[in-house]
Amino acid sequence: MVTVTEKYEVIVVGGGAAGLSAALVLGRARRHTLVVDAGEPRNAPAAHMQGYLSRDGMAPAEFLAVGREEIARYGVELVRDRAVDAARDAGGEFDVTLAGGRTVHARQLVVATGLKDELPAVAGVAERYGRDVLHCPYCHGWEVRDQAFGVLAGTPMSVHQALMVSQWSKDVTLFLHTVAEEELSADDLRRLAAAGVAVVPGEVAALVVEDDRLTGVRLADGTAYHREVLFVAPRAVPQNGLLDRLGAELRETPFGAYPVIDERGLTTVPGLWAAGNASGFAEQVVNAASRGYRAGAAINGELLFADLDAAGQV
Ligand SMILES: Cc1cc2nc3c(=O)[nH]c(=O)nc-3n(C[C@H](O)[C@H](O)[C@H](O)COP(=O)(O)OP(=O)(O)OC[C@H]3O[C@@H](n4cnc5c(N)ncnc54)[C@H](O)[C@@H]3O)c2cc1C
Repeated sequence: MVTVTEKYEVIVVGGGAAGLSAALVLGRARRHTLVVDAGEPRNAPAAHMQGYLSRDGMAPAEFLAVGREEIARYGVELVRDRAVDAARDAGGEFDVTLAGGRTVHARQLVVATGLKDELPAVAGVAERYGRDVLHCPYCHGWEVRDQAFGVLAGTPMSVHQALMVSQWSKDVTLFLHTVAEEELSADDLRRLAAAGVAVVPGEVAALVVEDDRLTGVRLADGTAYHREVLFVAPRAVPQNGLLDRLGAELRETPFGAYPVIDERGLTTVPGLWAAGNASGFAEQVVNAASRGYRAGAAINGELLFADLDAAGQV
């Protein structure tokens, strides 16, 4: 038996770019909206957010703080908590249980919980992630351009990453690490050679760090290579637990399981929406915000027409 303490028209789980953007539209549309946010956005390790038109270089924490101020202007409530469970009631509405003990209710639910990056288990990588250990050239490539790049292979797909980052530096070394040389195709080798990417077999044991800067990588056999930046390929772990529990259809991708959604973000469960990295691996901040906006606007329309139909006016 669920005891619901508060009722909203919409609950948004996740207060990153996607969730706040959905909440902003909903608040401005005068929808009684709650954002539940655990406060651990994906880009927290980075000092700067790049590539968001008009916000290029802004600190991620500042970006979100401004977003929280904006939604508050329109009466949207935000609670720092974690949604640990959700269920649909007999009427198809949602009860969301928070770690803090509250259960909140809404007619529509947006899941904007993002994804987690599981880093390769090489000594030093986690400590330097977002500084000189990077994953995304669009996020950081310009800032480290022309430096000595390493790419830590995790799968043969790391060849693609090595080729991509060669757009930002002509000094790129691909460390094969856990990938055997034989796993690279003839096309891989031809493209790596054309891009001038050096290929080094052997497991990487640790990063070399001096004066709080990456200066190289050391292989298990003790050989050290001078490098100033290391690109890695974290394993993406989409935060899809609530979607799964509510019965949304998930599709497997090489980057984890994401919900099947329509162009507005509606999942296969009526009233259940997904936006941002919870809905797709490739969403950068601007795309996540855009996805949230679309979902928010679509939800407002759904609620309006449901109420008009129920009132018998249409
Ligand atoms: C190191 C790094 C640097 C990056 N740099 C850039 C960049 O420069 N430019 C760019 O465009 N992109 C960048 N990105 C990508 C960017 O982080 C994502 O595009 C963006 O965070 C996606 O926004 P989101 O709202 O979907 O998810 P997030 O920003 O991750 O927000 C999700 C929120 O939901 C909360 N949450 C999760 N589960 C729950 C739950 N059960 N209950 C309550 N709250 C929950 C989380 O705590 C978090 O606050 C970077 C990523 C990384 C890892």
